[in-house]
Amino acid sequence: MDIFKSTESEVRVYSRAFPMVFNRAKNAHIYSEDGQEYLDFLAGAGSLNYGHNNDTLKQALLAYIESDGISQGLDLFTTAKHDFIAAYKKHILDPRELDYKMQFTGPTGTNCVEAALKLARKVKGRDGIISFTNGFHGVSLGAVAATGNKHHRGGAGVPLNSVTFMPYDGYLGEGVDTLAMMDKMLSDNSSGLDLPAAVIVEAVQGEGGLNAASAEWLQGLEKLCKKHDMLLILDDIQAGNGRSGEFFSFEFAGIKPDIVTVSKSLSGYGLPMALVLFKPELDVWGPGEHNGTFRGNNMAFITARTAIETYWKDDAFAKEVQEKTEVLGNGLQAIADKYGSDFYLKGRGLMRGIACPNGELADKVTSLAFEKGLIIETSGPNDEVIKCLMPLTTSKDDLKKGTDILAECFDEVLGTSLSKAS
Ligand SMILES: *Cc1c(COP(=O)(O)O)cnc(C)c1O
Repeated sequence: MDIFKSTESEVRVYSRAFPMVFNRAKNAHIYSEDGQEYLDFLAGAGSLNYGHNNDTLKQALLAYIESDGISQGLDLFTTAKHDFIAAYKKHILDPRELDYKMQFTGPTGTNCVEAALKLARKVKGRDGIISFTNGFHGVSLGAVAATGNKHHRGGAGVPLNSVTFMPYDGYLGEGVDTLAMMDKMLSDNSSGLDLPAAVIVEAVQGEGGLNAASAEWLQGLEKLCKKHDMLLILDDIQAGNGRSGEFFSFEFAGIKPDIVTVSKSLSGYGLPMALVLFKPELDVWGPGEHNGTFRGNNMAFITARTAIETYWKDDAFAKEVQEKTEVLGNGLQAIADKYGSDFYLKGRGLMRGIACPNGELADKVTSLAFEKGLIIETSGPNDEVIKCLMPLTTSKDDLKKGTDILAECFDEVLGTSLSKAS
């Protein structure tokens, strides 16, 4: 491992928490060079919703490569892109009555967030954006300006302008209507808040600690955006692609955001790919105005189309995810119940976790979990939320195995800290 430490930048992060050299993976399992097996509840930070090396996706990809299909296509019309667009429209957009145009951006989440923010600003002719406490939208300059986390903001090195933060659902405590405050500030000529172009929000805050907005809050936010002539950008990069138990994380609220950003598990195979969806009347782009060499990852189009045709033709997979959500929820609830009200469940769907009283404790639990063969991360402002982000294709047995390991770790960590205190 020496060459990593001597030569790879200090910026690396996951490899610090999981200092092993990995060389192979299948579905919810990842293997180190020395043959150890780990259960992967991190799954490419939510970019492997269909598991590592999903066989159906792999076969489609191998066949495409074997046939000398286009690999890099810029934004040229290609068969692979045609077939992806057609499948996405047929199985995802049309059944949900979502009339969106599709913009392929450079293949990372932050790039499609940049495009969404630029587009909103261009459409409205205003520079302001409202983002929310604990929001995470990426680390390029436009996106990081809309990100709450101090550590990420600090890396920018320039002033991060034109974004105002408002309290997310529940931020000010139960029973406080944070939208009422926002409405007041937007309505009052003397609040000091300039009318923004758009609001950007996650339905479940992935990096921010698994805060899940209620359906009523999201509906209220949609109304507020209409009332004040702001566009609603829903960042579904992490919570989308089935993670919440439905394809989009906002479906349960019945809202139709003006702009939706999608990436992470979009390709389904861990291949980089990003997409912005927006209402047709917002399509004011000039050719190449938001450009990028790698907007045509055709291998990703192949696996993305196959994922949709395999898992989203009907609601069988969504039902399966919802069942698994219960298995996971029960396992986590049993842990939380054991240790009292300082420990509680957060999140929605297969994007759930346990909030601990502090980050130090959460870190002890996840570090011990790694020793016991479970890869799992923390999130939240103080890294205090232990966060499950396993593939949606994880078997129920493996879900149970994972929560059993977590339960053991909680027992050992809290057992020792209790005995130390006495
Ligand atoms: C991961 C993430 C991003 C950024 O995606 P990158 O591919 O890391 O640039 C943006 N928004 C949300 C909600 C994310 O989870």
